[in-house]
Amino acid sequence: MKRIKSIILFKDRNDITIEVLTKKIYTIGRFSSNDVLLTGKGISRCHASIYFLNEKFWIIDGDLKGKTSTNGLLVNGKKISVHELTPYDVITFCENVYAIFLECCDTSDFNKVFEDTIKNIALFFAGKTSKGERFSGDKTDIKTFTSKSRNPQLDDLTGLPNRSAFLARVGKSLEFKNKISADHQFSILFIDVDRFKVINDSLGHLAGDKFLIRLAERLQACLRPDDMVARLGGDEFAILIDDINSLDEVTCVAERLQKDISKPLEIDNQEVYPSISIGIASSQLQYQTVEEILRDADIAMYDAKKTGKSRFVIFDEKMHEKASELLKLEGDLRRAIQNKQLRLYYQPIVSIKRKTLVGFEALIRWFHPNRGTINPEMFIPLAEETNFIYELGLWTIREACRQIAAWRDTPSIPSDLSVNVNLSAKQLSDTRLVGDVQKALQQYAISSGELKLEITESLAMEDSQQTIKIANQLQQIGVLLVIDDFGTGYSSLSYLNKFPIDTLKIDRTFVSSIDVANENTSLNITQSIIGLAHSLGVKVVAEGIEKPYQLTYLQQVYCDYGQGFLFSKPMEAVDIVEWTKNGLDWYWKP
Ligand code: C2E
Ligand code: CA
Ligand code: CA
Repeated sequence: MKRIKSIILFKDRNDITIEVLTKKIYTIGRFSSNDVLLTGKGISRCHASIYFLNEKFWIIDGDLKGKTSTNGLLVNGKKISVHELTPYDVITFCENVYAIFLECCDTSDFNKVFEDTIKNIALFFAGKTSKGERFSGDKTDIKTFTSKSRNPQLDDLTGLPNRSAFLARVGKSLEFKNKISADHQFSILFIDVDRFKVINDSLGHLAGDKFLIRLAERLQACLRPDDMVARLGGDEFAILIDDINSLDEVTCVAERLQKDISKPLEIDNQEVYPSISIGIASSQLQYQTVEEILRDADIAMYDAKKTGKSRFVIFDEKMHEKASELLKLEGDLRRAIQNKQLRLYYQPIVSIKRKTLVGFEALIRWFHPNRGTINPEMFIPLAEETNFIYELGLWTIREACRQIAAWRDTPSIPSDLSVNVNLSAKQLSDTRLVGDVQKALQQYAISSGELKLEITESLAMEDSQQTIKIANQLQQIGVLLVIDDFGTGYSSLSYLNKFPIDTLKIDRTFVSSIDVANENTSLNITQSIIGLAHSLGVKVVAEGIEKPYQLTYLQQVYCDYGQGFLFSKPMEAVDIVEWTKNGLDWYWKP
């Protein structure tokens, strides 16, 4: 007999979580009612056993000593011994067990494990037909069995109706309104969990699954029997509120949902405070297809997220205009590279101690023919959402490399200069990154240390193995990482040390709160960040220096580098040379 590697946790009727499949053998007991149950408290005695042999799970009636059982199993309330089981009984039996597993299951990979298990159980039993022939193991038989045991309309994790069931139901309401009764009104609520990723990342995926199951229960509890709640996928849910008289009824439901959902939940002994964003679309807007309603509810939900989360927004025509405008902008952005509308600006980074220029941060600008200059804070998120960011980011990296090479023979520009380029989350997890960066380095003969990539603290914190791996590969080709906006997340410095970090940038908010004279907490924080970074061999850049006294303070606390409007705003490359001619010394003069 082989050791079983899988662990399945489930609860028995007394709500006690027990582990099965960790043991080599586990037993099936019988609850007093019409149920089959795996061993746990509350079971009288062993009625059958499941064991693992030849990579398969087997179920055996009676005990394992080879004796014929006198107990049998309960299948649909009927006591049946193994020898009497017909293939049909087996399917019914397996369905019973499956239902119990689904009801009790705690893990998401459970379904896969269970499906395989149950398939093997079925094969085993089905082989024992009344004529004593062995089961052929034919694939179509397995297929018939598995398709029977799962409900294609239900979501595996939560047991709620799934997307297709939801669309079908909304389709019926829409058809009823459009063909039979124009007065019929209904609304759709599109629900997205706020910060679900944080829950998943901090507590783990299993806890994330438990969270979704509990949330599904809460959603269901808030609704009337005629309403429908479905899981669309991931952390997205949708509700249909059918046959309403006014939109007030719907906003009432939305308010109740927000209130009931936000009560704390305990997941794995941790308190979690759920919150959801809701987008509402109503049938008054004369929709023709279900997809249109869902799309608009989604747009409204997105608006709720953007304007502060944990709230609901009702879709209106204006929002539609805004959405299609954004769509147009997205198209424009995709063409911006070939239309030469993108340019890099460079903001100097100086050594505070040596009063010299050490490098630049490259900051992207978009000159739109009709809209004028568009701020990166507006179009970078757009590029991220639409998966254009990789291409855009690569353009930035190449352009920065080209500029480094172009500055090479400029006397006023130091030869050991480095240029920082900002990197988005999606770029750092893209396996193409290292190869593409390397090509850019080779094309412009960029040497080690000349190009640095800035990633935000929150991105570094995501700690995916993939990210760390890519970061290490970047280091090998001579590209170091700069942690941007440091102090805004919750990471510890020693944690960030998993990354090959060259420099750390203290966020602008700390620097801007450095006051002329008075001591305040952010001074202490700034000072301790610098101290700690130095003890780890990491250099520090202070961002957003605007006032001479901020520079003086930073110098006193041994901050290595500085960047900010005091020295210069970001400039075009052509203006840099002029700027460098004046030297830097005079910034320190009072
Ligand atoms: P960031 O990386 O934190 O960049 C610093 C921002 O602070 C820049 O804004 C810069 O102009 C501004 N800044 C610099 N010194 C001062 C100062 O003394 N006072 C004040 N108030 N602001 C100062 P910008 O250029 O608008 O960029 C905004 C953000 O857009 C950047 O924040 C960065 O996250 C993103 N970004 C810019 N270029 C790129 C890019 O090429 N790729 C990616 N992924 N993101 C970029
Ligand atoms: Ca930056
Ligand atoms: Ca920054």
